[in-house]
Amino acid sequence: MTQEYSKTTHHNSPEPIRGEEGAPIIGPTNPMREAQSRDRLAPPSTDNGTLPNLKWSFADCHNRLEPGGWARQTTGRELQIAQALNCVNMRLKAGAVRELHWHKPDEWGFVIKGRMRITAVDQDGHAFQDDMGEGDIWNFPGGIPHSLQGLEGDGSEFLLVFNDGNFNEDETFLVTDFLAHIPKEVLAKNFGVPESAFANLPKKELYIFQSEVPGPLAADRVVGAGPVPLTYSHRLMAQEPIRTKSGCARIVDSSNFPAAEMIAAGLVEVEPGGMRELHWHPNSDELQYYIEGEGRMTVYASGSAAQTFDYQAGDVGYVPKSMPHYIANTGMTRLRYLELWQSDHFSDVSLAQWLAFTPYELVKAHLNIDKSVLAKVSTQKTPVVGL
Ligand code: MN
Ligand code: MN
Repeated sequence: MTQEYSKTTHHNSPEPIRGEEGAPIIGPTNPMREAQSRDRLAPPSTDNGTLPNLKWSFADCHNRLEPGGWARQTTGRELQIAQALNCVNMRLKAGAVRELHWHKPDEWGFVIKGRMRITAVDQDGHAFQDDMGEGDIWNFPGGIPHSLQGLEGDGSEFLLVFNDGNFNEDETFLVTDFLAHIPKEVLAKNFGVPESAFANLPKKELYIFQSEVPGPLAADRVVGAGPVPLTYSHRLMAQEPIRTKSGCARIVDSSNFPAAEMIAAGLVEVEPGGMRELHWHPNSDELQYYIEGEGRMTVYASGSAAQTFDYQAGDVGYVPKSMPHYIANTGMTRLRYLELWQSDHFSDVSLAQWLAFTPYELVKAHLNIDKSVLAKVSTQKTPVVGL
């Protein structure tokens, strides 16, 4: 890839200079922040016009600290464009519980580190419990009550994704808060027991709280009315990825994980020098979560507008529906990130396939490119490319 970064006096002190354009900063500067957004400070000359902000870092989130863990969210409030999807980064120490709760949007989860136990009961009394490890995912439909708990060792850290940008993790339906706001005689009648049975209910929500590490999963199995018809968990890393010489992609949607009826995802790995190819999604906005490495994305927004953004581990990216983009690995190590869509199925249009499968004379009349440029394009998609 052509190096269009700014000339720098020091690796960590980029200057807003590109060729003959720009000038050194002589006012206030934050070199560490500017080093993380070099393509904002000195954009490629192809950038132009106005785009919404498409980057947010979890480092800038308010973090809700609780006994045994924390939660921070990137929603349409933090990243205004994120209206179709948002995400929460949560940590639970061993034994710590994200209390029994539900919410209106669907919840798609991804285990970043560690191990955790998840439980749910559906509208027909079917019960679900499973232990999740790194790279495992789950999907709870909206309204289905569930819990999350860190397991032995150091518990877990994970990403939650919701198909509503205005979802608020601080405003979920919590079992403690719910029962604290129902008259005790109603609870007594509901369960057919004396009111005194509810004398020790918490007066306010627990949300995240420290508890004991649960025993083996088998001992926690509750049968209820039988198992849920479509399992809520999926082993993403057990899935054979689409491999290319510069990386790989694991796509998960309702075709291979039927419970994922509203949220589809891709876990993408790009080796140094590689790039997620130029493409766009005809069916949804895209939310991205960067797990490791460094990347650069340009989004073309039509009307001569395009802007470039830089991402590091812990950042969130966003691409509005149908806007083409690439994600290049700009670091020395592997880039690994999640792409998420508000859909029951993955769908992307590849620029390379579009041009290769269009009559060549028609393409040449537009772009004046040689036929050989398109000769290597495969009928199989190549999500990650690189020389
Ligand atoms: Mn939830
Ligand atoms: Mn994409």
